[in-house]
Amino acid sequence: VTVFFRPVEKINAVIETYPKGIAGFRRYLELLGTEPDVADLPDAKPVKHLAGDIRFDAVSFGYNAERPILQDISLDVRSGETIAFVGPSGAGKTTLCSLLPRFYDVTGGAISIDGQNVRDMTLASLRRNIGIVQQDVFLFGGTLRENVAYGRIGASEDEILEALRRASFDKVLETLPEGLDTVIGERGVKLSGGQKQRLAIARIFVKDPPILILDEATSALDTQTERDIQASLEELSRERTTLVIAHRLATIRKADRIVVIDKGRIAEQGTHKDLLSRENSLYRRMHDVQFLEEAEIS
Ligand code: ATP
Repeated sequence: VTVFFRPVEKINAVIETYPKGIAGFRRYLELLGTEPDVADLPDAKPVKHLAGDIRFDAVSFGYNAERPILQDISLDVRSGETIAFVGPSGAGKTTLCSLLPRFYDVTGGAISIDGQNVRDMTLASLRRNIGIVQQDVFLFGGTLRENVAYGRIGASEDEILEALRRASFDKVLETLPEGLDTVIGERGVKLSGGQKQRLAIARIFVKDPPILILDEATSALDTQTERDIQASLEELSRERTTLVIAHRLATIRKADRIVVIDKGRIAEQGTHKDLLSRENSLYRRMHDVQFLEEAEIS
């Protein structure tokens, strides 16, 4: 469980963009008394809007030299494709996804986007191309407008409204006394968990990155709110290269490809149907367990 993807408190499917993640990550490192050695190389170049073809080429990684976490991961993800990473807890799914925005640097191999090594890009421009939706929402005590524009400073009012609409926040907006200028948070209008999640999704629509990393909530509550949010997330991932750290059967089934990570390696990959039809596949065993669990809940 990696710190910047993993909140202390679990609200159903709380969501967030990465600046908080980095802050959380930095705080964590401060606690440990270490500093991240991720920085711009002297000749790093800014990149513009990437297409989002991702290649993991024999990637290995460990948080420390004693213990390798990922080993020899090779994977090509085409622009627009949705990949679901599944596997046992601690297998390395979150860690693998955190290497793409360079929260950490690979210790072996390379990651490239559109044929260009991520280490040759400036961190700021690389991260502008990646949106992260995770289980923790970060809102600050400003107006709704400011909170959405946080996705991309300088977004126009029309862009903000359109993003809120696509995130199904427009109904909520109608009820707010001062519309976009309503102060939210502690000293203003308090938003529910579901509303916060929609706002976080709106941020990503405003940011409009070609690449999306989605750290799915683990809970399997099948409420209407969750279904709506799921639908917004599906719209968000459309036409973006999407890496999902997947927990839900629905998401996994719909993914273009499922990559099963086990003990830091790619154990299996294929479509839901492919993997399910393989006798004794790890995926099939995981699927059966989860299917039984969900049947018990509903
Ligand atoms: P889960 O499904 O439980 O989220 P995961 O497959 O995403 O698991 P990771 O979170 O990537 O797994 O963790 C892989 C391994 O790396 C685990 O053994 C974990 O304890 C370790 N790990 C994660 N983050 C850190 C960190 N910041 N420092 C040291 N070790 C870490």
